[in-house]
Amino acid sequence: MKFEERFEALCDIAMVDGHAHSLRPLDSEVTGSILRIAFSESQERGILEGHLLDSLSYRDFLRNVLEVVLEDEECRIDSLCEEMESFYLTKRAEIGPARLAERLLTRANISRFLIDDGYGGDSQTMLSLDELSAVVKRPVHRVLRIETELEDLLGEVGTIQSVVEGFQERIDADSSIRALKTIAAYRGGLELQTVTEAEARDELDFLKWRNRGGSSSVRLEGTKMHHYLLGEAFAIAREKQLSVQVHCGFGDSDLVLDRANPTKMTTVFKDSRYEGVDFVLLHCFPYVKEAAYLTSVFSSVHLDLSLAPIMVAPAISGIYREALSVAPLSKIMAGTDGHSFPEAYFYGALSSRKGLAHALACLEEEGYLSEKEGSLYSNRILFENSRELYGI
Ligand SMILES: [Zn+2]
Repeated sequence: MKFEERFEALCDIAMVDGHAHSLRPLDSEVTGSILRIAFSESQERGILEGHLLDSLSYRDFLRNVLEVVLEDEECRIDSLCEEMESFYLTKRAEIGPARLAERLLTRANISRFLIDDGYGGDSQTMLSLDELSAVVKRPVHRVLRIETELEDLLGEVGTIQSVVEGFQERIDADSSIRALKTIAAYRGGLELQTVTEAEARDELDFLKWRNRGGSSSVRLEGTKMHHYLLGEAFAIAREKQLSVQVHCGFGDSDLVLDRANPTKMTTVFKDSRYEGVDFVLLHCFPYVKEAAYLTSVFSSVHLDLSLAPIMVAPAISGIYREALSVAPLSKIMAGTDGHSFPEAYFYGALSSRKGLAHALACLEEEGYLSEKEGSLYSNRILFENSRELYGI
């Protein structure tokens, strides 16, 4: 099947968004600088207020989102990026947030979302999962961010054992949780130490002594206690049959990129204590080849190509081509990593389908896949692989 035909067929598949975050309330203020936050990895003003307007991804996003708001109206899609942005924001305000969200979500054709609700601040700035489900009118499943819960518990309870028990109780109490997620990649890195409970206890005792009389807040940043608790969380995931999503590669301003290379997790994938835990490597760019290799040698490792469709859109067909060339196609899943604005879900879904369509069309043309297999794996990558893995 040629690209155009394959792309059209992919648009009809109601994809599962395997990794995304919640939205801001639809009526919250949106300026260019606020919108750009959802389309950049940087928090530097120099990037957000200057260079992002020269990025191909952001320009392509504006072109595509303008087509949605303009429909048959006069088109100004060849303007400079800054002009397109301000024109888009004017049109956005005219249409109204609820109507716009509906239009974008219809085009995105996402059937259900896995939402990491540990991102984006408090309930004032982001919708709760129930509120989000009402806005998107689709099922929303929770992904529990491990570090956020552990830090909360460490501030509340006194011992390592009570933190682990509290973590387990929180999982038991919420049936909407379909996976756990670790952000160790940008909290010290993915090279995890093997730690005893006594070592973790010592660290907590020291922290309590140091903070005596002051704040009880703890930030987990790659210390022994962090890694001990992560190991316990993985063991709980195994017991509860929950997958563990692992942030890999780019995706946070706290990152030192090379510490987020998924190959640093190899000892975890080989560790018999975690046998049976399904690990989902999220994002992975620029380590897509490495991540795909890991999925080809460890049955418990899977690949979710979220974020790249939004941040590096012109590279996404190459990213899918690389993943499909190395990983078993039963292990690859799609996601947007959209957050804050429905535009991000729309553009992430569009760009994922474009990339996958290009990669499949090339592989069919070169004889690696028949047209029938191309259709079968389209469905698996956009829908069935996630549905099976997360039990949704
Ligand atoms: Zn994310």
